Amino acid sequence: MARRPFFAANWKMFKTIGEAVAWGRTFRELTRDVADRDLVAAAPYTALASLAAEVKGSNVGVAAQDVYFEKEGAFTGAVSALMIKDAGAAYAIVGHSERRRIFGDTDASVNRKTHVAIANGIIPIVCIGETLEEREANQTFDVLDRQIKAGLDGITGEQVAALVIAYEPVWAIGTGRNATPQQAGDAHAHIRSRIRQWFGGDAADAVRILYGGSVKPDNVAELRAQPDVDGALVGGASLDPASFFAIASRG
Ligand code: PEP
Repeated sequence: MARRPFFAANWKMFKTIGEAVAWGRTFRELTRDVADRDLVAAAPYTALASLAAEVKGSNVGVAAQDVYFEKEGAFTGAVSALMIKDAGAAYAIVGHSERRRIFGDTDASVNRKTHVAIANGIIPIVCIGETLEEREANQTFDVLDRQIKAGLDGITGEQVAALVIAYEPVWAIGTGRNATPQQAGDAHAHIRSRIRQWFGGDAADAVRILYGGSVKPDNVAELRAQPDVDGALVGGASLDPASFFAIASRG
């Protein structure tokens, strides 16, 4: 069974509410006739509700860029799964390398966030990927194995089938230096084979694995030509709706 392509925009810490709504209006117009792929925009928390209202009834979904794993309580600055769902998000990015590197996310917290997202009906987009140092030390597959095993610990095969994995080599994020199609293809094939081994054939056949790292309109097609690359998670080139549309329609 063919997997439905999936393209997610990660705006990071960009866009006011007004800018987010303007993006949503333009993008929903551009994608009015696109029905064969999932399109998602990950907005800052402050813009989630307004963006969700703007794209309601369209083929565009809304994601949070993170989610905290506790239900509620004295966790100043944190936002729960129930809160992002209430704001209109259907997805949450979990374990982005910037969250791991700057904010201290670990495989263990990624696992808790993945569990809490699923428990609240939010589809997690779980990010994994090696640093340049790890790649140069030939540890890429070991790092991916650790991140998959720990990050998805306790998740059932059926749940894995419904979530999204983003392979994002850290050295390719925001650097303009993207993985070659071969490097991306090898990593994606490895990830899918581990999902098959640890979560079963149905999960491996169904799970969408996105590539992320300096994806642009002119390199998306060659990355997507790799059989295990089901779409892209796009940072910088997603801030302009026309550029993200070009990526999502060429990929
Ligand atoms: C990202 O933020 O996940 C990302 C891949 O960023 P960029 O496309 O800018 O490299």
